[in-house]
Amino acid sequence: MKGVFIGLGSNLAEPMAQIHSAIEAIDLLDDVSVVSKSSLYSSPPMGPQDQPDYINAVIEIDTTLFAHKLLDQLQEIEQQQGRVRQRHWGERTIDLDLLIYGGNTLEDERLNVPHPGIALRSFVLHPLAEIAPDLIIPTLGAMQELLKNCPLDGLQRID
Ligand code: ATP
Ligand code: MG
Ligand code: MG
Repeated sequence: MKGVFIGLGSNLAEPMAQIHSAIEAIDLLDDVSVVSKSSLYSSPPMGPQDQPDYINAVIEIDTTLFAHKLLDQLQEIEQQQGRVRQRHWGERTIDLDLLIYGGNTLEDERLNVPHPGIALRSFVLHPLAEIAPDLIIPTLGAMQELLKNCPLDGLQRID
């Protein structure tokens, strides 16, 4: 199934390399292949301001994994890349969020999909728009409409 999107973010230990490693690790998973990648972006931190700027990207994958199984695999990659959870929205080597799982909506103690931050976070919405400009997101609506209410807020595309 295509139409599965993952948001990546890093602000520790060579963030660009962290993003590239994670994309490679995701592509190497059984039953997952990366079909599209956004550019890399830099963004000021959300939450605590005393942390470095972030590097962000969004990818689309093609997968037969169920959403929870996919989340298990993403969290395993976060662990492999040394993710330590210290403070809410604090600095991290890598964050892998399941943004969209096709036309599905999921809500339980582990998984909220579409990810509730999509339309509110420029560092998610704009990279997503780069690779899926015509997307209709379950519960949120049309990408082009969402973009109208999502200023860049310091987001910069890195060429
Ligand atoms: P945010 O989710 O607001 O971006 P975060 O990415 O910093 O915050 P994490 O510490 O990475 O949060 O994850 C906390 C928990 O969020 C995870 O243990 C996971 O079970 C849950 N979660 C809920 N929905 C999702 C989702 N769509 N993608 C990834 N994790 C999710
Ligand atoms: Mg996150
Ligand atoms: Mg996360």
